[in-house]
Amino acid sequence: MVSPEKVESKIKQIQQDVANCRRCSLWKTRKNPVIGDGSLDTRVMFIGEAPGYYEDIQGIPFVGRAGKVFDELLKSIELQRKNIYITNILKCRPPENRNPFDTEIKACTPYLDRQIMAIKPMVIVTLGNFASTYILSKFGLQAKKIGAIHGNIFQIENLEFKSSIIPLYHPATAVYNPKFRNVLLKDFVSIKKALKSRS
Ligand code: URA
Ligand code: SF4
Repeated sequence: MVSPEKVESKIKQIQQDVANCRRCSLWKTRKNPVIGDGSLDTRVMFIGEAPGYYEDIQGIPFVGRAGKVFDELLKSIELQRKNIYITNILKCRPPENRNPFDTEIKACTPYLDRQIMAIKPMVIVTLGNFASTYILSKFGLQAKKIGAIHGNIFQIENLEFKSSIIPLYHPATAVYNPKFRNVLLKDFVSIKKALKSRS
């Protein structure tokens, strides 16, 4: 068990490094970097894509429309922000919310890797194609399209830690399409199951 003070100091260091980061050009257009939110002493980490308009203004992930859906989904399995940790693949907003470039993902994900290694979550939930592809590939799993694997639970184990990875649709898909909202509600039950089986 890592001491909570140690996790906190690691996350603080990441925060500082991101604030000073010039590894890709997105620092030039961002208003605020968005590092992460929630509990550092948690069993579950969610990974989204990149900050949007409101996240960039507030410096907090998932506070816009997708965030509202995300909060509802959490509530459906009796979780709240204060029980989980949430972050993104990119820490700065891409202009006009365009997709992240591969070069930006490559530049930014060392920060995400450090967050994962600091928190060592029992369950990692990846939201959307970008986060799912990055995390599954990182742990040597085949990254199929999200439509083919959403809601599945993948077990990974390495020298440092053991975790369940659950790829899901991005909550933004449910903002305009109720079909995705229902799929997400159903898939969130997988998170509950994975947490139960590991508790
Ligand atoms: N979408 C994301 O992927 N991340 C956010 O923080 C907000 C919207
Ligand atoms: Fe650095 Fe990531 Fe921001 Fe690019 S997106 S400037 S790599 S923190």
